[in-house]
Amino acid sequence: MELDQHAEELASDLGVDREEVRADLENLVSYDVPIDEAKQSLRRKYGDGGGGDDAAPSQVDVADVDTDDGNVSVTATVLTVGKRSIRYQGDDLVIYEGELADATGKIDYTAWQDFGLEPGDTVTVGNAGVREWEGRPELNLSEGTTVGYADADLDVPDEVGGDADLVDLRAGDRGVNVEVTVLEVEERTIDGRDGPTDILDGVVADETGRLPLTDWDPHDAIGEGESVRIENAYVREFRGVPSLNVTEFSTVERLDRAIEVGDEAPRMTVAAAVDTGGVYDVTVAGNVIEVRDGSGLIERCPECGRVIQNGQCRTHGDVEGEDDLRVKAILDDGTATLTVVLDRGLTEDVYGGTLEDALDEARDAMDREVVAETIADAVVGREFTVRGHLSVDEYGATLDASEFAETADPPADRAKELLAAVDAPAGDGGAAGGG
Ligand SMILES: [Zn+2]
Repeated sequence: MELDQHAEELASDLGVDREEVRADLENLVSYDVPIDEAKQSLRRKYGDGGGGDDAAPSQVDVADVDTDDGNVSVTATVLTVGKRSIRYQGDDLVIYEGELADATGKIDYTAWQDFGLEPGDTVTVGNAGVREWEGRPELNLSEGTTVGYADADLDVPDEVGGDADLVDLRAGDRGVNVEVTVLEVEERTIDGRDGPTDILDGVVADETGRLPLTDWDPHDAIGEGESVRIENAYVREFRGVPSLNVTEFSTVERLDRAIEVGDEAPRMTVAAAVDTGGVYDVTVAGNVIEVRDGSGLIERCPECGRVIQNGQCRTHGDVEGEDDLRVKAILDDGTATLTVVLDRGLTEDVYGGTLEDALDEARDAMDREVVAETIADAVVGREFTVRGHLSVDEYGATLDASEFAETADPPADRAKELLAAVDAPAGDGGAAGGG
C-alpha cells in the first residue's frame, strides 16, 4: 500500500487532517520506522482508543521478543549506549545504539532520538518497535516510544558498560570502550560523503589481540606507540574482518601507562574462529588435506593484481600476465575446515625455491601444474600452525596467512588439547587461555 493510502485510512479512522497525518507518517518512515509501527504510533498520538492504556503493547521478557511482534514493552537494564551520526535521505541523524538486558537475555536497540539513556539505567521501554536484523529481533525506540526510569535495579547477568577486550569485539558492537596501544597509524584523505575527508587508518592492540582502526574525526591522541583509552567506538565489518571505528562522538584519552601488547594471536579451533564471522589476527592449527586449484604458478593482471586465466582479466581484458606464486590449501582441525592462502613469500618457503626456480621447473616439465604438485607433496597430510586474517563470506572461510609453519608437537596431542579447551567447564570462552 502507498503512503498516501495509509494516510487516507488513518485520517478517516481518526477523524483528523489527512495532510497532517501524511507528513507525520512520512517523517516516521524516513526514520526507518516500519509502517505498521508508524501507524500505531500515530493512532496513539491522535488519541485513538481515548489514549487509555488498553491499547498498550504487552510487557514481555527480553528473551521472548520475537521478530513477529509488532510493538512490545520491556523492562531492562541499559548495558551500552553508542552515539553516532548517520546520513539518512540527505539528513544527518544522530542515533543511539547499544544493548538492553534483563534476567532472560539481551537485545540490540536503536534509539532514533535522545532518550537520555545511560549504561546502568533500568528502564521500562513502552511501545518499542521490533525489527529484524540478520534473523534476530532488535528494538526500535522512536517517537511513539516511552522510556520510564525504574528505581529498582534488575538482576542482570551481563556486564554493564562497554569496556571490552579486543578479542571479544564483533561487528555490530556499539558503545565500545577499549584500552589499546596504537601499533600503526597513517593519515589518509578519502572521498567522503561531504567531499575529501581526512581520516586516520591504523592497527591497535591489547594483550588479547589486535584490530584495524579507522578514526573518522582524527583525534590527536591517536599516535604511533601511544597507549590510549577510547570510549564510544563501534565495530563494523570491513573487508571481512571486524574494524574499530572512532567518530566525532568518541573520546580518546592518552594513558600514562603502557597497554601491553601480546605477541601471540588468540588461538582458536577452526570452528570457533569461523563462528566469529571474521578475526583480524588469529592462530589455528590443523592438517592440510588438499591443495586447491589456483595454487602454484599463477598469473596476475598487471593493472589490478587479480589472478587471471589464459591472459584474460575480467576487468581489463587481454593483458600480459605477471607470474606469481600462491597456495590455497584446505586446513582441517577436526572441528571445521577453512582455506589458507599463502602469498609468494610463504609459498616459496613451502615450495623450497623461488619464483624463478618454479618457472624453471615448469619449463623443464613443459607443464606449469608441476609446481602445485610439488607443493602438494610437501604439505598435504602434515599439520601446520597458521596465523593471519580470517574472513568469512558466503563462499566460506579464508585465512590470509602471515605465518605458516609445520606444527612441532604431534597432531593427536594438539587435537586433544584443543578439544579439552573447548570442553573445559567454566571456561571464560575469551582470551588466549593456555598458550
Ligand atoms: Zn585486471
